[in-house]
Amino acid sequence: MSIDIEKILQVLAHEVKGYQVPVVDLIAVQTRDPFKVLVATILSARTKDEVTAQAADRLFARAATVEELAKLDEKRLQKLIYPVGFYKNKARYLAALPAKLSDDFDSQVPASMEGLLSLPGVGRKTANLVLAQAFAIPAICVDTHVHRIMNIWGYVETDTPLKTEMALREKLPEKYWIPVNSLLVAFGQGTCRPVAPHCDRCVLGDSCPQIGVTPRKLKKKSAAGEVMRLVSWNVNGLRAVLKKGFLESVKEMDPDVLGLQEIKAMPEQLPDSVRSLNGYHSYFYSAQRKGYSGVAVYSRKKPEQVIVGIDDPRFDSEGRVLTLEFTTFYFINCYFPNSKNDLSRLGLKHEFNVALQNFAEELARKKAVVICGDYNVAHKEIDLANPRQNQKNAGFTPQERAWMDSFTDAGWIDSFREKNKEADQYSWWSFRSRAREKNIGWRIDYHCVDQKSRRRIMDADIFQHIYGSDHCPVVLDFLS
Ligand code: SF4
Repeated sequence: MSIDIEKILQVLAHEVKGYQVPVVDLIAVQTRDPFKVLVATILSARTKDEVTAQAADRLFARAATVEELAKLDEKRLQKLIYPVGFYKNKARYLAALPAKLSDDFDSQVPASMEGLLSLPGVGRKTANLVLAQAFAIPAICVDTHVHRIMNIWGYVETDTPLKTEMALREKLPEKYWIPVNSLLVAFGQGTCRPVAPHCDRCVLGDSCPQIGVTPRKLKKKSAAGEVMRLVSWNVNGLRAVLKKGFLESVKEMDPDVLGLQEIKAMPEQLPDSVRSLNGYHSYFYSAQRKGYSGVAVYSRKKPEQVIVGIDDPRFDSEGRVLTLEFTTFYFINCYFPNSKNDLSRLGLKHEFNVALQNFAEELARKKAVVICGDYNVAHKEIDLANPRQNQKNAGFTPQERAWMDSFTDAGWIDSFREKNKEADQYSWWSFRSRAREKNIGWRIDYHCVDQKSRRRIMDADIFQHIYGSDHCPVVLDFLS
């Protein structure tokens, strides 16, 4: 299938009018200032737009000109731009920028590819974007969205952004060189997303060849009843993940019930946008100790009852279990204890596991039960990247795995493994050694259901494309 590029770009120009404008374009339009466009472009690499926008605001409040930027040292810059991706490198580039501009360009941003490429931290993509947005010079900025989408359409067949840029220079009419980046960034962020694009609602649905694409899984419908999307996510600090696109991620996942673990906050420490998430009923159970543990549940439907804790002060003081009762099932959100590196909490963890199982089995006598959460254990060798090296480590000790064996032997069903038997499916990665990038991870987050609910498991998934924590969300589509 060959595509009509002019027609497609015209359709998209109309389509993205209602989308969020990419942050660099916004700054270009609002300021018409090459310096700000350059700085925002440097900040935006590998960073979500809302994070870039906030960092740019903080930085420009202190340094709106080259001269003002020269007064900030690297450490100060790191603080101002955190948490943009690679903030330490970017702070180093920004600290070196004023001297370079002053020495070679009379403190002006150069309007040439060669000049821009000589600046610290500026590569071809940044240079093209600055030329296009700050100086309106025809240049094709090929970022990940342009490269990806042009290949999905089969308009180019390339394996690197540079080859895509060269191919587009050959065949894309020049009038589209400047706008193509804005169009495809907005479209790539809003509809044709890098993972699981929204082909179901795409205006190009009929004309797109979808080369190499796995479209988004929709919630399955069932004649037998309503399917609810249950999501579990250890956020490793709700206030921290909020700065990393949490609200946008929730919107994208579209959960009916969302269980969070390790929120590390009291409700009163949270902004209104999270304390009462728009469209959801919100429930929190924080640990007594500040900044530690704690769980929260957001639910579209108002539950019939909320049960706080499991009536054991040793665990309830740590805010580990929060249960919502719905008409046809209980949703237990649980943050299982970590047995610690020295295994000093192994015994306590086992006692918690037994207490939680007893609590869940009591509820399962009345109706269906889903236990979601960070179980802090990889059950089988397939559930972690390096099983042999971790036999004696917390989360994969024989004792922890033995409890998981006895739990599943008692009839509890690991919903993910019910649907997916593949290896390399992980939900947690160490922050060290670029473990997530290399997918050296563990699957320690689960939705387990009682034995009578096997037929209610409509689908189960791990949303590895959602970032913000060292865990990613796990998902169960459950016939409620
Ligand atoms: S149909 Fe799917 S792959 Fe094609 S452009 Fe639309 S969202 Fe992207």
